[in-house]
Amino acid sequence: MSIAQNLNNIKSQLPSHVTLVAVSKTKPVADLMEAYNAGQRIFGENKIQEMTEKWQQMPKDIEWHMIGHVQSNKVKYMIPYVKLIHGVDSLKLLKEINRLAAKWRKKVDCLLQVHIAEEETKFGLDEKELEEILNYVQNDKNEMNNIRIVGLMGMATFTDNQEQIKKEFQNLKSIFDKLQQLETLNLKLETLSMGMSGDYQLAIECGSTMVRIGSSIFGTRY
Ligand SMILES: *Cc1c(COP(=O)(O)O)cnc(C)c1O
Repeated sequence: MSIAQNLNNIKSQLPSHVTLVAVSKTKPVADLMEAYNAGQRIFGENKIQEMTEKWQQMPKDIEWHMIGHVQSNKVKYMIPYVKLIHGVDSLKLLKEINRLAAKWRKKVDCLLQVHIAEEETKFGLDEKELEEILNYVQNDKNEMNNIRIVGLMGMATFTDNQEQIKKEFQNLKSIFDKLQQLETLNLKLETLSMGMSGDYQLAIECGSTMVRIGSSIFGTRY
């Protein structure tokens, strides 16, 4: 099947409240253009340099999402054009995004990445760190005026065990719900980014509002 067919297939399965991020990492611009010509406008990349090169070559009505781990010293390269950063996992990084976004007089949308997987190697915050960051951001004297926390992101354990993945997604959803109900929270958390090619249907059942799908659209990455 072609990229356009894959894309249309997936889109036809998504409820209207779920946003599709087409994860195009490692794929050539020609492949991305095929998705673009089939109507896709949101692309996710996990390396800043690769995303920047593609941004330069592609139409400017695309929303670029950074889905990978971000190093503070590279943030400056993507600030001019990035729409949403999924993997914010420290206050230090958030401050750096805010500082550089201010320079560009921009507001950059961010998701806080929560650690839900079993693997220690996966990035992400625990609940206590989440609340600390949210409190910091909401305190006017910290002047975090150039970022907007719009939700949470998480990655399940890499396993075939559907029950385990489901538990991890449900855990993230319950953290998301709990934060939304915090009386001290003035932010509107509306995005819950969870689900990839192998588990997006499950993620949607568990409350995902944004799925990040790569190989099911563009084919296997080598
Ligand atoms: C690569 C990647 C995806 C997409 O994975 P597929 O299995 O190809 O759909 C989603 N999210 C993140 C964070 C990724 O790095």
